Amino acid sequence: MKERVYNFSPGPATLPLEVLQQASKDIVNYDDTGIGLVELSHRSKEFIAIADNTEALLRKHLEIPENYKVLFLQGGASTQFYMVPMNFLGDGKCGAYLNTGTWSKKAIKEADQIGNIEVVFSSESDTFNRVPKQGEYEVPTHADYLYFVSNNTIFGTQFKTMPVTEKPLFCDMSSDILSRKFNVSDFGLIFAGAQKNLGPAGVTIVIIKDSLLSEIPEGLPSMINYNTHVDKGSMFNTPPCFAIYLVGEVLKWLERTGGVDAIEKLNRQKAALLYEMIDRTSYYRGHAIADSRSDMNVTFNLPTAELESKFIAEAAEVGLNGLKGHRSIGGCRASIYNAFPQQGVVELVDFMAKFESNNPA
Ligand SMILES: *Cc1c(COP(=O)(O)O)cnc(C)c1O
Repeated sequence: MKERVYNFSPGPATLPLEVLQQASKDIVNYDDTGIGLVELSHRSKEFIAIADNTEALLRKHLEIPENYKVLFLQGGASTQFYMVPMNFLGDGKCGAYLNTGTWSKKAIKEADQIGNIEVVFSSESDTFNRVPKQGEYEVPTHADYLYFVSNNTIFGTQFKTMPVTEKPLFCDMSSDILSRKFNVSDFGLIFAGAQKNLGPAGVTIVIIKDSLLSEIPEGLPSMINYNTHVDKGSMFNTPPCFAIYLVGEVLKWLERTGGVDAIEKLNRQKAALLYEMIDRTSYYRGHAIADSRSDMNVTFNLPTAELESKFIAEAAEVGLNGLKGHRSIGGCRASIYNAFPQQGVVELVDFMAKFESNNPA
């Protein structure tokens, strides 16, 4: 078997080895029950303890206040693109949107089909190379929420400070949740697909403020109504049991590594190593402008597309995998989420220096 490589995949993404090893034992025989993890009833006391523990750890790490509900849903982050407007864009309502990349654009398309929205900022004409500064857009007084994506996975930009507004803030945090400290109480609704920073594909975490729940209209299909899942504790139907378990194991690992404070420091260091390398010469060109750079997804180009292909292929040969940029923008992308080891970043930086001297522009 091939040894584990450094996996820069944007998602599903690398997970801590110790978590995978624990899961591989539990999947055959969970906690000496004689039943495999994915064979346990979701109503069993064992699974209920797993789900309760995952929620408790998430609440602890994110310091989620009592007046927020935590849900474990399916359908990916993409289901939230229409679930949000179906719940919060009824007659007479308006959603304000910041368009900072592919994922906000997709959310805008869904919301536009469902209700009234206003796109109050877009960096599309700059190939989404930045996020707005505070004060660069205005949230209309008649808006019911402001929607944004905290980290733009594909373009490699990130809000360094969260937008400030009187309106409820709704955020897609799929690719940077738990990577840094923020105040949940500044938000109305947060969602995140697990497969970047939290665990495997298959579960989407939703954190929603209690006071918003009474605004949800009657008559929505049950699965689409947040109240259904709040009322049933995310057990209206069979939840994604394995994914919820694995998120719990990742959260335990996060606890062992010092929690969000420690991981935030490490994430900053990892990203800084790469951006220093990119800034050293004009050989590598960062896609994002400096003050919008993401600590999670580092996007860059080489002098030519041919050199980029060669770079990606030769990197893979030395165990640096998954560096190809998204098909929509090309170039290279190093995704370095919480579980990505610092040593892998060090090795990539070394490889970049060698590649540059062996392949002059
Ligand atoms: C990956 C990603 C999504 C899409 O998630 P799915 O679970 O595949 O629907 C949405 N938003 C952001 C910011 C992402 O990184």
